[in-house]
Amino acid sequence: MNDVNTMSRPAERTLSPQSAYSAAAQKWLDRRPQLFIDGEWVDSRHDETLAVVDPSNGREIARIVDASNDDVDRAVAAARTAFDDGRWTGLPPIARESMIHALADQIHKNADLFAELEAIDNGKPRTVAAALDVPAAAGMLHYMAGWATKIGGDQIDPMTAPSGAFHAYVRREPVGVAAQIVPWNFPLLMATLKIAPALAAGCCVILKPAEQTSLTALLLADMVAAAGFPPGVVNVITGNGHTAGDRLVRHRDVDKVAFTGSTEIGKVINRAATDTLKNVTLELGGKSPVLVLPDVDIEATASGAANAIFFNAGQVCVAGSRLYAHKDIFDKLVEGVANAAQGWKVGPSLAADTKMGPLVSDEQHRRVLDYIDQGKKAGASVVTGGEAIGPEGYYVTPTVLVDVNPEMSVVREEIFGPVVVAQRFDDLDEVARQANDSDFGLAASVWTRDISAMHKMCAKLRAGTVWGNCHMMIDPALPFGGFKQSGLGREQARQGVEAYTELKSVIIAL
Ligand code: ADP
Repeated sequence: MNDVNTMSRPAERTLSPQSAYSAAAQKWLDRRPQLFIDGEWVDSRHDETLAVVDPSNGREIARIVDASNDDVDRAVAAARTAFDDGRWTGLPPIARESMIHALADQIHKNADLFAELEAIDNGKPRTVAAALDVPAAAGMLHYMAGWATKIGGDQIDPMTAPSGAFHAYVRREPVGVAAQIVPWNFPLLMATLKIAPALAAGCCVILKPAEQTSLTALLLADMVAAAGFPPGVVNVITGNGHTAGDRLVRHRDVDKVAFTGSTEIGKVINRAATDTLKNVTLELGGKSPVLVLPDVDIEATASGAANAIFFNAGQVCVAGSRLYAHKDIFDKLVEGVANAAQGWKVGPSLAADTKMGPLVSDEQHRRVLDYIDQGKKAGASVVTGGEAIGPEGYYVTPTVLVDVNPEMSVVREEIFGPVVVAQRFDDLDEVARQANDSDFGLAASVWTRDISAMHKMCAKLRAGTVWGNCHMMIDPALPFGGFKQSGLGREQARQGVEAYTELKSVIIAL
């Protein structure tokens, strides 16, 4: 894989260096690696730490704790006690709602630091983190806060008893202690997407961010303390997935596991959670098709298709990574996407004019370059991009591949990088079949002004979300999740809160 890296890194294409960090960010990076357990910052019970690397230059900038089994057990015990003694569920729902809003307010108040740390840790442009990730994270909390005062049960008359003989009702109760494991592509947003519904439902949580990007989850822990949450309601532990994550998933005192990440690890987690038959929600990978019919405005659609794949350097579970364009417009559309790609300025995350930062890690960089290489070897042609740029950091230029076929790994597998494969089609039924010919079923988009074709295609596509004339419009009020191997269950919306509840039928003879 080293060869791939060196081969495709042209020496002449160099980027400006990463900017200096602000004093506030540097202070945060200089903090001692600790865990947030039971409302306090605590040392790990062993000395293992993990490096925090800035993907814009590949340098180690801080260390975080690699939590031990004992650390995980302490965090679970804190959440268990907090849940069982009612210090959270026992509060009036309006108090819980207010505290979740207060946490969102803390995020707003510290938005600059959150955006900078996210950019430094993940590699995404600070401008994007500030405009999108941080406000969306606060928005998720604001949306979910309201459910704390609105979820409830039902009263039902038993079918088999005379009216008035029984009083029967269904209580909706919090599921208990939730272990929440999140990935590195939207670290803060994924953290709030997980904790917000759990807290609204009355659960206590242990959040484990990805080992590559734990900084903003740790800052979030400070905000949890500032917002006044009782100790143990939110615990944040850092560490490796196969150790700390696995310990959480198997822990007997954890009632629910919510995971966002790769399909491969989602399956591992689901298997591990089966031993104790935990309630599991999985939000996994995708290979989302973008279907463009012949009547579209080519320029606008090309720009939309480029955004669908190049946003966040393609490290998005719903990235529009398979482009299907009608044969009458294929050449023009691909040319438009390639032109748009060339306008995506690649650069370090803190530069004001960067539109696409580096990939998150050396491992991801190698993985994406390896996929491009596999594609080329299998006969794909590169219309634009396909290169690493240096001299340091994990950059890949926005890439458009054509001459691909459905058997190639670049067409079938989730690359999680700025790489789109374009194919042409003639017939709508045929393209629906091709789009559905995937193990994934997370999202899709259809681009046309033909309203009848639009609705027919939306019904045919096997995906948890289908967009029309847009892509990646994700909103907390709408359920989000995958068909097929893209996941289990739904997040966001009413369903996302209900996923943190159990139903209890109460039947009382009068
Ligand atoms: P990606 O493939 O996108 O890097 P992963 O799916 O490997 O992401 O990881 C996403 C999250 O899952 C991270 O927080 C990681 O630490 C965690 N994780 C990885 N392996 C396991 C595991 N075996 N058990 C529990 N959590 C895990």
